[in-house]
Amino acid sequence: MTEINLHHLQQMDQTDPLAPLRDLFELPTDVIYLDGNSLGALPKHTPAHLQAVITEQWGQSLIGSWNTYDWMQKPVQLGDRLGKLAGAEEGQSLVCDSTSVNIFKLAAAAIRLRPQRYKIVTETGNFSTDLYLLQGLQRMLGDQLQVVAVEREAVAAQIDQDTALVLLTHTHYKTGQIWDMAAITSLTHKQGALILWDLSHSLGAMPLYLDHNQVDFAVGCNYKYINGGPGAPALLYVAKRHQTTLEQPLTGWLGHARPFDFDDQYQAAPGIEQAMCGTPSVLANAALECAIEIMEQVDLDALRHKSQQLGNIFIQLIAQYCPEFELVSPTDESQRGSQVSITHPQGYAIMQNLIERNVIGDFRAPDNLRFGFAPLYIRYADIWHTVQTLADIMATGSWQEARFHKRQQVT
Ligand SMILES: *Cc1c(COP(=O)(O)O)cnc(C)c1O
Repeated sequence: MTEINLHHLQQMDQTDPLAPLRDLFELPTDVIYLDGNSLGALPKHTPAHLQAVITEQWGQSLIGSWNTYDWMQKPVQLGDRLGKLAGAEEGQSLVCDSTSVNIFKLAAAAIRLRPQRYKIVTETGNFSTDLYLLQGLQRMLGDQLQVVAVEREAVAAQIDQDTALVLLTHTHYKTGQIWDMAAITSLTHKQGALILWDLSHSLGAMPLYLDHNQVDFAVGCNYKYINGGPGAPALLYVAKRHQTTLEQPLTGWLGHARPFDFDDQYQAAPGIEQAMCGTPSVLANAALECAIEIMEQVDLDALRHKSQQLGNIFIQLIAQYCPEFELVSPTDESQRGSQVSITHPQGYAIMQNLIERNVIGDFRAPDNLRFGFAPLYIRYADIWHTVQTLADIMATGSWQEARFHKRQQVT
């Protein structure tokens, strides 16, 4: 491996085809923001668009805006545009609710499609909400359902003729490890089971091929690499072939075939709209639309390439300058998402010290320091400064100061 130096990285920034995109984001100066995998940055044109939606649409057109400005159509319109970024043809994606709520809707619906089967297979150490929602579903359905959570290496062997659903997170939130979507989806189908992919740490970080891989269901988070804003409505995908038999449990009025008939009896809408529940969050959708406009300009293969390069450089520099940390993410770039995690027993205090020095990553218990490389606005030179700051913190032992040990609510 060749030696990396700052000059070399600055040259890479100069020839980076994605470099101009950084200018589309509002970022505080002097801050290196390596937490775009948890809350993406603010696109510069979002505030003005939100202001216009508030004052012109809501303020002047009031309730007429539902029709005039297509407020009601946004979940489908934005869903189609996001779905395209994930490799989905139109009519299969929505933007609605939170990722958590969408997991519940789709997991419950999937089980209904396989009534003779009793197993849901997932991974231990999956993102907590995914596990908790399956546990909630299990408590609701009792003996009819068994949630089997096993280590990653044991997942494939658990998928069998009793399996109704496999729920996996494509890019692991902590390790950044990626599942082989094509292989696991195909294995699942061979056993007659269905699969629900959680794309939270993949969407907006790499190209995805939902239709091509014959994925059944997917959810994705829009406030991470997509930059849709805190709590942005989430992606929900249901393959066309399941839409005629789907029965999702949150049968709210906007999933009805004719919501404005106000009929007493629920009747599901024929298409993807049946996965809606209640009224869309209009302001949140307006912010999300601005973010999607940026993503649509991006070559996702180039984005993925840059993300892999950023991770490779970080890993190499950490090994060189901060050898006391242990790498938990794959070194093989093809198996790694857009984040790299390293561990240290004093990880919490070290991360607090880094944040005070304007390098923002995050901490995931018990000992993970997590660094997300959002390729739209992270520069190669940022990786150099990050690792040098970390090396300095370790060399001086400044993380030992008491203020870095006080726990915050959000880590
Ligand atoms: C971020 C994330 C979520 C987010 O769920 P919310 O309902 O938005 O809180 C879900 N699953 C995974 C794997 C995530 O990384």
